[in-house]
Amino acid sequence: MGVTPTGPLRPGRVLVLGGTGEARRLAGRLVEQGIAVTSSLAGRVAAPVLPDGAVRVGGFGGVEGLTAELGGVAALVDATHPFAATVTAHAAAAAAATGTPLLRLQRPGWTAGPGDDWRWVGTLEEAAAAVRGYGSVFLTTGRQGLAVFAGLTGRCLVRAVDPPAPPLPARTTVVLARGPFTREEERALMVEHGVEVLVTKDSGGGMTAAKLAAARALGVPVVLVRRPPLPAGVPTVATVGEALAWVRATLSPPAGTPRP
Ligand code: NAP
Repeated sequence: MGVTPTGPLRPGRVLVLGGTGEARRLAGRLVEQGIAVTSSLAGRVAAPVLPDGAVRVGGFGGVEGLTAELGGVAALVDATHPFAATVTAHAAAAAAATGTPLLRLQRPGWTAGPGDDWRWVGTLEEAAAAVRGYGSVFLTTGRQGLAVFAGLTGRCLVRAVDPPAPPLPARTTVVLARGPFTREEERALMVEHGVEVLVTKDSGGGMTAAKLAAARALGVPVVLVRRPPLPAGVPTVATVGEALAWVRATLSPPAGTPRP
């Protein structure tokens, strides 16, 4: 990576599977460089922050639907959230079926530092078991999958962008908010609600990392859900810059390079 070829770009658009800040930034950079891009959003959020360039919204209809969509696509970048494992698997299958060049853009996960009390679990169900018995739990895993926490009897603070659907824990307070949040805001929220334990997915990135710093400062333990594995055989990068270089190299490979 790091190569920025300068030749004419191969015709055909780039499809970015989005729903993340990285996907939005990549679309913006592609538009700046005059590369035709369509971003795809699942349509889960009522009022999403839209990327530059063309946008389509809604599921494709499984691997078959996505495969059909890849007809005029010169390169596919799967920049979906680290926990959006289904669409990531679909992208790998559809790209393989059509011979479409595919890149996975996934930000690095979080790593514990001095003073952190982190407890890793494999699933949301394990996270629910790990926080059973706590008097006040802060759930920041998003509004999908909250049903597994429904049996908790302590107070639960749920933060999500859109209102979560039942079933929810009996003593739930919902805070509707979209990051980024500052460490001070997170600290104040956790103090206000007497939070005793924080639950989060290992989403990585800076947008929602302040809660981890606030938990550390308050001595609050954190239950982290491990990421699902990456799809086998798909090149993966961690930054928007690397993804941009890959797109450029894919659309305009150096002379003599066989096309994928
Ligand atoms: P998922 O479980 O991997 O995907 C479920 C289905 O949603 C897919 O089979 C696909 O439907 C559709 N889908 C997902 N992402 C799509 C996209 N970018 N464009 C078009 N269709 C998409 O996904 P998820 O975990 O529900 O996440 C949905 C979206 O929210 C993703 O775009 C993701 O980047 C974003 N997001 C997820 C999380 C999270 O914690 N999971 C957090 C923040 C943002 P079809 O099979 O019909 O094509």
